[in-house]
Amino acid sequence: MSRIVYVNGEYLPEEEAKVSVFDRGFLFADGVYEVTTVMGGKLVDFDGHAKRLWRSMGELEMTPPCTEEELLGIHRSLIEKNGFDEGLIYLQVTRGAADRDFAYPAEGTAPTLVLFHQEKQVADSPAAGKGMRIVSIPDERWGRRDIKTVQLLYPSMGKMAAKKAGADDAWMVEEGVVTEGTSNNAYIVKDGVIVTRQLGTEILHGITRAAVLRFAREAQMKVEERPFTIEEAQGADEAFITSASAFVMPVVEIDGAKLGGGTPGPVATRLREIYIDEMRKAAV
Ligand code: PMP
Repeated sequence: MSRIVYVNGEYLPEEEAKVSVFDRGFLFADGVYEVTTVMGGKLVDFDGHAKRLWRSMGELEMTPPCTEEELLGIHRSLIEKNGFDEGLIYLQVTRGAADRDFAYPAEGTAPTLVLFHQEKQVADSPAAGKGMRIVSIPDERWGRRDIKTVQLLYPSMGKMAAKKAGADDAWMVEEGVVTEGTSNNAYIVKDGVIVTRQLGTEILHGITRAAVLRFAREAQMKVEERPFTIEEAQGADEAFITSASAFVMPVVEIDGAKLGGGTPGPVATRLREIYIDEMRKAAV
């Protein structure tokens, strides 16, 4: 069955939804995006994703295509029109279509807004019980990773490198320390202390990261926001990643070294449970 997707004010069957060949998202990766999870037909942390989207657009001097309230309405209509219960809603805003030129069009452009959903079992994910195997790769992305742009070729290459190595994902390393995963934030746990890289332009400010660290602190867990090396991670008691679509996902192996006997650790497992419980309650 074909999905109903949203494109520039219209809800259309996916086969009929089109954007221009001159769209700057297509020509220059001049676009930003968000992925919001849906559980029980409701949106998880919509407010956090909307705030980050507006920040991304602001950093790139992009005109917002609508208000935050209108965007919430579009998400809800998409859920309703598709009878959608659990999975993800992907949204992309680009600067819009203009004759090809590196400089932004002086007269401005009407932004392009596209949304579609993907059904996925997020809460009862089989991967959560197994844990992920990670390989490390150099971080070769541009310098403004705090802006959530659609330039995702390097993360795609990283995921392919992980797949070829028989692993599930890659953590990226710069100046000897881990920045983040290809599409997630990275954490280790040692002697009960959760360690994750501090915020800056080197990583995406994960919406799930912010919520999970808040829940961890509320549960009296110790959190240190600082860089760590792959060697330190290999010697940790456990490790995990966070993202909107994976929630909290345990990591059981890093560059061939098994952590905690190769099974998901108690801190990651507990944080996953807390996150899912709290987010189910707060979903809109
Ligand atoms: N880092 C990167 C590079 C990502 O692509 C993502 C997911 N989009 C994250 C971190 C996690 O962010 P969030 O929790 O907001 O999904």
